[in-house]
Amino acid sequence: MQFIDLKYQQQLIIEDINQRIQNVLDHGSYIMGPEVRELEDQLAAYVDVKHAISCSSGTDALLLSLMAKGTGPGHAIFTTPFTFIATAEVISLLGATPVFVDVDQQAYNIDPQQLEIEIEKAATENNLKPFGIISVDLFGLPADYNNVTDIADKYGIFIIEDAAQSFGAEYNGRKTCALTDIACTSFFPAKPLGCYGDGGMCFTNNDELADIIKSLRLHGKGTHKYDNARIGVNGRLDTLQAAILLSKFRIFPEEIEKRQHAADRYTRQLKQAEHITPPLVPEGYKSAWAQYSILAENTLHREAIQNALKEAGIPTAVYYPKPLHIQTAFKSLGYSPGDFPVSESCSERIFSIPMHPYLKKEDQLKVTDIINKVTA
Ligand SMILES: *Cc1c(COP(=O)(O)O)cnc(C)c1O
Repeated sequence: MQFIDLKYQQQLIIEDINQRIQNVLDHGSYIMGPEVRELEDQLAAYVDVKHAISCSSGTDALLLSLMAKGTGPGHAIFTTPFTFIATAEVISLLGATPVFVDVDQQAYNIDPQQLEIEIEKAATENNLKPFGIISVDLFGLPADYNNVTDIADKYGIFIIEDAAQSFGAEYNGRKTCALTDIACTSFFPAKPLGCYGDGGMCFTNNDELADIIKSLRLHGKGTHKYDNARIGVNGRLDTLQAAILLSKFRIFPEEIEKRQHAADRYTRQLKQAEHITPPLVPEGYKSAWAQYSILAENTLHREAIQNALKEAGIPTAVYYPKPLHIQTAFKSLGYSPGDFPVSESCSERIFSIPMHPYLKKEDQLKVTDIINKVTA
């Protein structure tokens, strides 16, 4: 059994992919070719925002967004420690300070109550200027945007949505990537919409921010190629990757629906399992199901389940085994174990089972039978 079956998906669309790759080889515009703009237009329409700006990775999308907002030393950027390193790494890279906020027990996303506490503390105790929030839609489930937006408005700070795992998800009838000042997604192969290499995209309704991001991804380009208006990066999406994404995007909306069915089936079949917590999708939310993640009782319990699955040839993964506040890379921030109890408890107990649009019913049954047996 595959954890994510990219081979099966490829078989379905291989002719279209080959044709699109051949088109790029024929026209030869490998950098910023017509497919790049076509993809941007299609994804902007899909999520319903004015501007989609492609770039070289999800990490660069976050970096470009923070740069466009003028993030730098003295600025506090609030995010969770229960995420992939990229979310917080880009904050430090710009000389700003990541300020961690614990996650909510059920959604694994930023806890609005804790967020407000940390914003107050950053300004009064730590002499930092509250500047922005990077909210993460972990495992494909959107964060609590109504509450997070109220807090951002109250303190006059921006929200960047890290939608690397949630492209295609919805919050109160609106697509992710259309919910905040700027949103970022990733086309890393294993993400819900993945290419065959690295890629990413920024989304915004703000004309000025869009212009700055477009300039930043092209070395700070001004009015022409050799006019440099600002310090930027080489952050473009390859035309070949855009071509592959155009092909994959044609079946993407259908894949999102298939993911809903697969997730529902898992959740139904896990009903009898004791001592585990399957993922919860609150009213008004739709997940992109980048991962189907379950909480075990404790680390030993998790290991028992993972081992039983492994013996049956079923792969599992742990996202994330070590929260960011206790990573060596962030040692200088001065956090200690115990600072974010919910994130730490999740790291000790979480595991993910195979999830992709083409999961077979029999395979899902095999997975849940084993989990039900181990946890009975
Ligand atoms: C994958 C991921 C990123 C980084 O995306 P890349 O395209 O790999 O650079 C950022 N944030 C989260 C939450 C991710 O899962």
